[in-house]
Amino acid sequence: MTCDFLAQALPGVQKISPYVTGKPIEEVAREFGVALEDIVKLASNENPIGPSPKVAAAIQAQIADLARYPDGAGYDLKQKLCALHAINANQITLGNGSNDILDLIAKAWVEPGLNAVYSQHAFVAYPLAILAAGGECREVPAKHYAHDLTAMLQAMDANTRIVFVSNPNNPTGTAFSQAELEQFLAQVPSHVLVVMDEAYIEYCEQGAIANSMPLLGQYPNLIVSRTFSKAYGLAALRVGYAVSSPVVADVLNRVRQPFNVNSMALAAAAAAVEDQAHIDYIRSENRKGMQQLEAGFSQLGLSWIPSYGNFVAVDFKRDAAPINQALLEKGVIVRPVAGYDMPTFLRVSVGTAKENTRFLEVLTSVLQHA
Ligand SMILES: *Cc1c(COP(=O)(O)O)cnc(C)c1O
Repeated sequence: MTCDFLAQALPGVQKISPYVTGKPIEEVAREFGVALEDIVKLASNENPIGPSPKVAAAIQAQIADLARYPDGAGYDLKQKLCALHAINANQITLGNGSNDILDLIAKAWVEPGLNAVYSQHAFVAYPLAILAAGGECREVPAKHYAHDLTAMLQAMDANTRIVFVSNPNNPTGTAFSQAELEQFLAQVPSHVLVVMDEAYIEYCEQGAIANSMPLLGQYPNLIVSRTFSKAYGLAALRVGYAVSSPVVADVLNRVRQPFNVNSMALAAAAAAVEDQAHIDYIRSENRKGMQQLEAGFSQLGLSWIPSYGNFVAVDFKRDAAPINQALLEKGVIVRPVAGYDMPTFLRVSVGTAKENTRFLEVLTSVLQHA
């Protein structure tokens, strides 16, 4: 008799359906016989331009020391983040990507009998983290694809430990204002941690959407989550960070692995933080790319959800799966979002002008033949 190890897995773990990543370029080349150089991948909200040019030298400098463990405290990167955000090092928790941070939060504060709240159409990493910790997922219906903050408040009870808020949200691109955030925070019960996932905030003009960082002093239950995977262009290296009260950071630092961020990632992120001019450039290029995609969608008579990120959810008003399949066959990789209750949409990341043009050309031909 072999043991059924699935049945023996913890109940929350059994409920998890594995995360589906964007299809790798090599896989599409193999499956559909498209030449590698003809493939356009706009599926994982990656930065098409890449990181600051200063990053390569910072990584190179680490190669001599690969036999050594990294600085588990991340001193240098934390110093740079302190200067950037006007915060103290004891407020920072570094993560192996911000996904690590989300997992650490659930691991530290959720167990069976406790729950965490998040919105419909919100980033799938939240339910994954909650289920893995054995907690109850409270998914709150969205309002016009955006977070319904009032309904999210109503979903909280004495057993709620966390509310995950994505601003801007992936995959919808929706966001709310500073006034809306402040009104929300003022009403969240003090025993509930508010995780503001701001993975795309570097793409937003200052003041365009809520920025929770300045509110940390006022709300000891606030955790701001940021990442180097998007505008900073370091998705491959896996670095993210949380900023919180020192007490919350102390808890998170207890549950993380001692060396959860590797030395090349630490050095690269530190170099990237120093080059804010590059982030300004990435933001302005993204805006142009977004305008290009929107103009293309307009011309095709398609509607989309206006987005504050580096991606946009476009609505075909019918099952988008066959359209996705036809795009794949021509070497264009975008992201189906049926798993997010959005079966008529595809999420498209903003690429370079050339990639956007190719995507729009292929989409036009696919729609003509559909
Ligand atoms: C991409 C993304 C992240 C970042 O994930 P990393 O683990 O830092 O690469 C976090 N939150 C949202 C909403 C995202 O879309």
